[in-house]
Amino acid sequence: MSTSPAAETDVVVVGSGPNGLAAAVTLARAGLAVHVLESQETIGGGARTLDLGLAPGIVHDLCSAVHPLALASPFFAEFDLAARGVRAIAPEASYAQPLDDTPAAIAWRDVERTADGLGADGPAWRALLGTLSRDQDLVVELALGDKRSVPSALLTPRTLRTAPLFGALVALQGTPAWDLPFRTERARALLTGVAAHAIGQLPSLALGATASLLGTIAHGVGWPIPVGGSQAIVDALVADLRAHGGTVTSGHHVRTWRDVPPARAVLLDIPAPAAADVLTNRLPRPLEAMLRRVPHGDGAAKVDFVLSGPVPWRDPDVGRAGTQHLGGTRAEMARTEAEVASGRFPDRPLTLVSDPAVVDPGRVRDGLRPLWAYAHAPAGDRTDPTERVTAQIERFAPGFRDLVVASRAVPAAEMIHHNPALVGGDISQGRVTMARMIARPTPLPDPYRLDRTGWYLCSSATPPGPGVHGMAGLHAASRVLRSEFGIRELPSLAPTPGRAQESSV
Ligand SMILES: Cc1cc2nc3c(=O)[nH]c(=O)nc-3n(C[C@H](O)[C@H](O)[C@H](O)COP(=O)(O)OP(=O)(O)OC[C@H]3O[C@@H](n4cnc5c(N)ncnc54)[C@H](O)[C@@H]3O)c2cc1C
Repeated sequence: MSTSPAAETDVVVVGSGPNGLAAAVTLARAGLAVHVLESQETIGGGARTLDLGLAPGIVHDLCSAVHPLALASPFFAEFDLAARGVRAIAPEASYAQPLDDTPAAIAWRDVERTADGLGADGPAWRALLGTLSRDQDLVVELALGDKRSVPSALLTPRTLRTAPLFGALVALQGTPAWDLPFRTERARALLTGVAAHAIGQLPSLALGATASLLGTIAHGVGWPIPVGGSQAIVDALVADLRAHGGTVTSGHHVRTWRDVPPARAVLLDIPAPAAADVLTNRLPRPLEAMLRRVPHGDGAAKVDFVLSGPVPWRDPDVGRAGTQHLGGTRAEMARTEAEVASGRFPDRPLTLVSDPAVVDPGRVRDGLRPLWAYAHAPAGDRTDPTERVTAQIERFAPGFRDLVVASRAVPAAEMIHHNPALVGGDISQGRVTMARMIARPTPLPDPYRLDRTGWYLCSSATPPGPGVHGMAGLHAASRVLRSEFGIRELPSLAPTPGRAQESSV
């Protein structure tokens, strides 16, 4: 997909991931001429859905597949995916944690049903995650801010109740005291599976925050899966960008600032060290050094399967969830994550699984369906993950192996070939620690602005960090509008009534 840039470009965005496109849409809607350059032939970065040639008509989500943040984020709430024809369906169970010797733990979207299933830990789950999910909007504002200012939406009395509770849950889940609120292994493991979405040390404050945010949303908007795949989100963003005069060129890899056409502002939707490479000798030296020093996190090793039927989970309730966390008990997950951190790919790696057909039967063709899975692996690991991921699923779903019709594996070291932002398989554009979530990518007062000549960073290397939420793009775009164009008010992101070309469907 490629179109020519407007004759006079106000802004160039390098990278068409969700953050790059969120920035591009915001700036185009403010009346600027915006051009997006993408290194790959396909648009959308971590939110692409492609035919991998494994089976006719079956498409696979290359990276993101499940979208709690896209549905809950302030950017997408205003952009209004539903009004643009994107159907994202939340399964009745957001996520499941199968266990070897005890019944699986299930996070139903309904918090009462979840609490009922957790026995002795039901009251604590209800008091913590149930209470927070009623204030999901505040929790999301708190977590997805720019980490430099207090969003105005938080200036409400409800915040006095929500912020301390959220902080308490983060502190409890992020420290060695993490066993305190829950007495049973099932509740402990259930929340640890969520924490592990951010690959890192268990327990740690950053992973405690991840569990608290995603665990809250699980009982709010849920963990939805877009009909047709994540690409539906990208297509809606690109349609809106084009409707507002924006253009996109694919197959254009930016190595240096010389590869970028002249513009008043350039936003980089790429990792921090890559930004230092593009701007070598152009940035203030201390900043260039800080960007280069941002450490990459450990990685994801992906396996896309084609199956001849649904995964035969030992506990059928596990198959009613849109996402499964396969890692066993809390202690086992902490151990395998420590193995990853020490550079060893575990025999039983922590594995995330999603069958989109649970909510989207259209993904099934001629009885075949895609299954999305990835395992945590050391940064840059070259191991083919297929056998270990297959065995980990088989552990909780005996007979799984017999359903596999085809598969494609991408070791952590090779993730970079379909997205240069995934260095060594790092899905977070930088190691996830609490300090690095706040001082991301640097502790400077403005984490987005790189210099005084109009260069900005807008990727998940900046706050609020990883996930398909578009918020880094929005925060960076608001600074570009103010500092480079003197525009202090953000444009409306809502669909314009009667303007069908803003929608992709
Ligand atoms: C296996 C996997 C599973 C995931 N699952 C989920 C999930 O279920 N839900 C969720 O919310 N998040 C998930 N994520 C994380 C999510 O995909 C990312 O956090 C998100 O895509 C980050 O958006 P971004 O725009 O910052 O970067 P990206 O989406 O990575 O986009 C960066 C873009 O920039 C392009 N680019 C990079 N360098 C250059 C260059 N030099 N020149 C030109 N173009 C360049 C890339 O090709 C890419 O298109 C997952 C990630 C992975 C890898």
